[in-house]
Amino acid sequence: MNSGRFLGTSALIALLLAAAPGAYAVETSCVLSELGDLSGATRVVIDPFPGWAKGASAERMKEIIDRINRTLIGDLEPARQIKITLVRPHDARADSISSFQIFLAWPPKDEQDLEATLSHEYGHALFKRNMERYAPAWKQWNALTEKERMTGPRPAAPPGLYRSTDYEELLADTLAVIEADDPKAMAKALKPMEGNFGRDFTVNLSVKEFAKRRASTATELLSTPEKTDPHHTLNPVRSFIWNQYLSKPENKPYYGKILSTLYRVSAEDMLKQAKESELPVRRGNWLKKFNKRLIKKLKKALKDFE
Ligand SMILES: [Zn+2]
Repeated sequence: MNSGRFLGTSALIALLLAAAPGAYAVETSCVLSELGDLSGATRVVIDPFPGWAKGASAERMKEIIDRINRTLIGDLEPARQIKITLVRPHDARADSISSFQIFLAWPPKDEQDLEATLSHEYGHALFKRNMERYAPAWKQWNALTEKERMTGPRPAAPPGLYRSTDYEELLADTLAVIEADDPKAMAKALKPMEGNFGRDFTVNLSVKEFAKRRASTATELLSTPEKTDPHHTLNPVRSFIWNQYLSKPENKPYYGKILSTLYRVSAEDMLKQAKESELPVRRGNWLKKFNKRLIKKLKKALKDFE
């Protein structure tokens, strides 16, 4: 999901129907089944509109997912099925919803854009698949409809689960960075909007500096913890992950182990937060605490890779 360019599901369906009625009979489908000892294969269905660049593009998308499954996810379970629906609107970049459906604006800017965006969205699919294992409470929460979540009595869910997208966006960005082998992969794929700088893993953003910046940026997004943009809340953790682990070439063979540990530790942290009875109200302190706690846990779990 990309903030600022998100289209709601109903808007997307409307756009799809308007763009190409009856055009979805053609499916480019494939099961990535040659995955060695992984416990399951990902079925990839690509749902194109007429006139899209067939062939090489579909193969490229399958290659990207296959490579991630084979070499980058450690002991995570690959997503069972993803459906990639190509959409025309230039401003609808990408969005994944709970059924692992990925909407991809087509054509991408370039090869790097495709890699970063598709990897990021597949990171969401991995999150949903693996949180079902690591965090059963999250599975129940995720089964609620969007409306039930948004309109339920406050707090509609335990705080940690309400904030699950913070972890999800962090992990999706991390996968994109690892896949592209480029710490700026996500930042490059996004338009240079204010605030996207923090998704560049090399900006070296400390928790202190981050909290200061956030406090001085008076936007509606930051007015309450619940509304804080999940693409940015864990930006200091992005810097930490880069500085501490991914910037070291000797860690490259262990990217899968590092990534799967990030998912597992995030699940643990999320469940711990979920046990806290109230959402913290002071945003600066809350952001500091959130980032610091996760960094501390990662440091412990990944000490072999420092
Ligand atoms: Zn996202």
